[in-house]
Amino acid sequence: MPLNLEEYTCEFCGKTCKNVIYAAFVCDDPECIEKARVARGGPGGHMKRKAEGKPIIPADLEPMIEENKKARGGFPRTVFSA
Ligand SMILES: [Zn+2]
Repeated sequence: MPLNLEEYTCEFCGKTCKNVIYAAFVCDDPECIEKARVARGGPGGHMKRKAEGKPIIPADLEPMIEENKKARGGFPRTVFSA
């Protein structure tokens, strides 16, 4: 059965509902999506990051991934971070 989101409002700001995230009705404001995530204790923050157009990879893993890329070649010398 199709769900008409337009009939619902964002649980956090009261604007027209655009998404159902973590079983919460929310608009497409990343702030409301974040509130939904926190409120529901949803898994990770990847949906929010996606909504903001950021990489899904957590920021604290990015340096490790960069090091991995370097180690896999394409970089003139192996870099050992101090
Ligand atoms: Zn909202």
